[in-house]
Amino acid sequence: MSEEILRVEDVDVFYGDFQAVQQASFSVEEGSIVSLIGTNGAGKTTLMRAIGGTLAPRNGKVWFKGADITGMPTHKIVDLGISQVPEGRHLFGRMSVKDNLIMGSYTPRARKNMKAGLEKVYELFPILKEKADQTSGSLSGGQQQMVAIGRALMSEPQLICFDEIALGLAPTVIKDIYARVRELNGAGMSMILVEQDVRRSLKQCRRAYVMLKGKVVLEGDSCNLTEEEVSKAYFGM
Ligand code: ATP
Repeated sequence: MSEEILRVEDVDVFYGDFQAVQQASFSVEEGSIVSLIGTNGAGKTTLMRAIGGTLAPRNGKVWFKGADITGMPTHKIVDLGISQVPEGRHLFGRMSVKDNLIMGSYTPRARKNMKAGLEKVYELFPILKEKADQTSGSLSGGQQQMVAIGRALMSEPQLICFDEIALGLAPTVIKDIYARVRELNGAGMSMILVEQDVRRSLKQCRRAYVMLKGKVVLEGDSCNLTEEEVSKAYFGM
């Protein structure tokens, strides 16, 4: 059995008095893809923020490669090897594609390898090399998503968290982006895929967790889960 790269244990996350995540636990085996499935507002993004350090869990623990990273600042977590592709991409629309990518290599370790990092991103997404000097705001939605993924790769992560990367994209574009995601996974990268689409997420992952109203309500290996039982858990039926 592979080793765990990430373990989230009984995590509670609040926005002020509002509890968005309740006692959530899950783990990611090294080199695997884990899906976090749920409707709008289920708490998936909040949980990603707690892993990435932009929100501190009030209770519970987050372990990465055996080290306790609970509440650590984001730059340290990125430097340790966890990177985020946030929902909505959060690109700098007036900056060039290349400069947006370079923003991802702000940690000392990544800065040293910036040139090689850019080449790797351009190899994965050749269109970004062609458009390197254009503003990211002038690109199509799919190309912007590639920039967001490329920026996350620039910090040389071992675990990457993709938050709803398919949102608003055409089916052919989604297919293409997921093919690149699988390519990265094939090269050994561990992944969390946050998704609203049950069928698509079950197809991609080794293990899936369903969230409902802040709680993990179902988990299992994707080969043992049916679309029907996941959908029921997803809607709280
Ligand atoms: P979505 O697909 O809509 O992003 P999600 O599963 O990622 O859904 P979250 O964004 O984590 O859900 O939201 C979980 C709950 O926390 C929701 O009830 C949401 O309204 C609330 N919430 C999210 N962000 C904030 C915030 N900044 N301040 C207060 N409440 C928030």
